[in-house]
Amino acid sequence: MERLSLQKPHKPPRELRVEQNERVSTELEPRSPHEQFLIDRVQRFGDDCCFLCGAHIPVGNSQRTIEHVFPKWLLHELNMWDSSVNQINGRALHYRRLTVPCCLTCNGVDLSGIESRVRSAYRDGIDAFANLDRLDLFLWLGKIYYGLVYKESLQPLSVSDQAGARLVPVAHLESIQFHHFLLQAAAGVVQWEHKSPGPASFHFFECLDSDEPEFRFDYLDDLMLPIIGIRIGKIGVVAILQDWGRSEGVRQPQIDTAKSFPLHPTQFREVYARLAYMSETSWSNQDHLISGGNGFATIMTPDPGDFAGTWDWKNFAARLAGAWEVPEGAIFDGTNGMSTIGGGGAPPNPAESMHVIFVAMFSKIGLWPYANVAPSDWTNDGTVS
Ligand SMILES: [Zn+2]
Repeated sequence: MERLSLQKPHKPPRELRVEQNERVSTELEPRSPHEQFLIDRVQRFGDDCCFLCGAHIPVGNSQRTIEHVFPKWLLHELNMWDSSVNQINGRALHYRRLTVPCCLTCNGVDLSGIESRVRSAYRDGIDAFANLDRLDLFLWLGKIYYGLVYKESLQPLSVSDQAGARLVPVAHLESIQFHHFLLQAAAGVVQWEHKSPGPASFHFFECLDSDEPEFRFDYLDDLMLPIIGIRIGKIGVVAILQDWGRSEGVRQPQIDTAKSFPLHPTQFREVYARLAYMSETSWSNQDHLISGGNGFATIMTPDPGDFAGTWDWKNFAARLAGAWEVPEGAIFDGTNGMSTIGGGGAPPNPAESMHVIFVAMFSKIGLWPYANVAPSDWTNDGTVS
């Protein structure tokens, strides 16, 4: 089957068409939209600069603060202050040390209001969370997405070569400069017409919760597409950060079914993989019409187009197997693949608890988070004790 062509989505638009000040960029590589419209807010890199507005805030500067990529309140709420995450290079990093440099204004003024509204919605449950202002949600999730890449661009690939290559090259941060431009909405200097849907699509899923901290959180993203999935307690959300609402009306049997019962961690990863795969196959780059200048910009919401692509299990299997941390052959036999959710002719498949092990269809191994638990350690009823 043919794949739809996929371009890197969040490269800067090739041509910024400017309405009011009549300047039309004809350069092959356009200047950044920051330069063209925002004057003093630029995308800068490195440990001396605010990750959000670019202000120069070296260590010792009175304006310097640190921003936790996963906010402190969330780490405390989920008992994750002492937990760690494995990075691309396999090294563990404590969540509490996942911080980026941030100036006092961005941290204490522009982001803190968003943080407190998200925190109170989180405490009120999934309905309140899903009803958050779309701008707050976009900025909160978009800041985590960008903050993680920023953090990785600060860290050396190898501990023995502190000044050497970075975990993520700065070129990657540059390639997501349009996302960074959108984040300037936190300071009110970038906005879009119309307010809704805004840059992102959101998909909410109620999830099973647990008393055990390691079960209460999951985070997934994609280096090539601006997509994130985050599961915090009972709340699961997958956001496509730059498709201008295109995917929100999607009808897909497994995703529809996933909205009918609380998801097990394995199932949340499946919905993430499905939405990420569909976003990838239906992606088309957008030209953005931007007007403004003198420190302010308005983006005209582009026509998001249809959320349609070719479903090819061969390509999807790689993504799903990656999310479940198992070999592709364990979940796809070359013709048929599997779902843990149900739908599309299969009954819904809710799990009683997070201790249930979903087993790969074509191999006797558990799916993430139990991919490394040997079958000899499974209990008779297919759970881990
Ligand atoms: Zn700042």
